[in-house]
Amino acid sequence: MAKAKILLVEDNQTQATLISSFLTRNGYEVVLAGNGMSAIRIAKSEKVDIVLLDLVLPDIDGNEVCRWLKLNHDTMAIPIIMLTAKGESHDKVAGLEAGADDYLHKPFDESELNARIYVRLRSKSLQDELRIKNHQLEDMLTRVETLAIMDSLTGLFNRRRFETLLSNEFKKAQRYLHPLSCMILDIDHFKEINDSFGHQVGDLALREVAQVIQASVREVDTPARWGGEEFVVLSPNTTKENALRAAERILSSMAAHKFSGIGGRSLSVSIGLAGIPDPSIDTMEKLIHAADLAMYEAKRKGRARVEVAAPGIAQR
Ligand code: GH3
Ligand code: MG
Ligand code: MG
Ligand code: MG
Repeated sequence: MAKAKILLVEDNQTQATLISSFLTRNGYEVVLAGNGMSAIRIAKSEKVDIVLLDLVLPDIDGNEVCRWLKLNHDTMAIPIIMLTAKGESHDKVAGLEAGADDYLHKPFDESELNARIYVRLRSKSLQDELRIKNHQLEDMLTRVETLAIMDSLTGLFNRRRFETLLSNEFKKAQRYLHPLSCMILDIDHFKEINDSFGHQVGDLALREVAQVIQASVREVDTPARWGGEEFVVLSPNTTKENALRAAERILSSMAAHKFSGIGGRSLSVSIGLAGIPDPSIDTMEKLIHAADLAMYEAKRKGRARVEVAAPGIAQR
């Protein structure tokens, strides 16, 4: 185990030498500061485990140094033991108010100093450990949360996350009578890609399709992977007419994109578009269903195209 590092702030040279040799004998590493300013500088720049702080210093009052260290984010966790001369009892109270963890009267008993240092170091190392564990937990939580909402292949939102979003946006659109559009995109003849080039190349193509879609829609639109080789895009506050433009942008970007791994060929998608207001669509499930029906219509009409759900389609 590394030696604990003690910052000893003491302007009296004799005292400093005495205490520091005692600490060194007891296995501590000692850094000396002769005044308040250099104490603050050292505490900030070196990894100090504990501070022994003399109350009376030539520049700033020990209480001030203490207050500063306890207010500063980088140094607030370092335990501070104030060293006070006998009879300075109101100073002692001031020291504790400034955030000191403990105090000792000078001249003090060496074994008492040792015991106090030991207690403070032990609680600091427990706190350090807790802090590290906390960070690890937070990191893990972030990773788990990310996994829960992202599709790991394409980096888009996954279906679950999309459905949550859609549910919220659908309710808002209904309440405020705003338009809302949704499209479903299915890659054309994708099975052939897997069959001719292998599943890995297929995965790569899926990722590129996701990028093309993402790049073709506006920031307020949310694309997601619906599953397999199917994608969805949610466009809040957007009429079907305006969403149709985005769909057409996707179609032309797809036609222009040379996919890697398949000899620079392009791929196409069939898109079904539905939106509200529509008298037959009063739930998000019906909206998805309408977009799905329109997508099959696009397939039937020859693929690489967009079909807009006719009003009332969801009732069929
Ligand atoms: P269509 O134009 O009618 O949509 O033809 P298609 O071949 O795309 O349709 P089909 O539903 O017959 O095939 C979809 C294919 O997508 C089959 C499946 O292996 C492939 N696929 C689904 N998910 C993945 C995936 O995560 N990775 C890869 N590489 N392929 C996938
Ligand atoms: Mg934390
Ligand atoms: Mg499909
Ligand atoms: Mg397909």
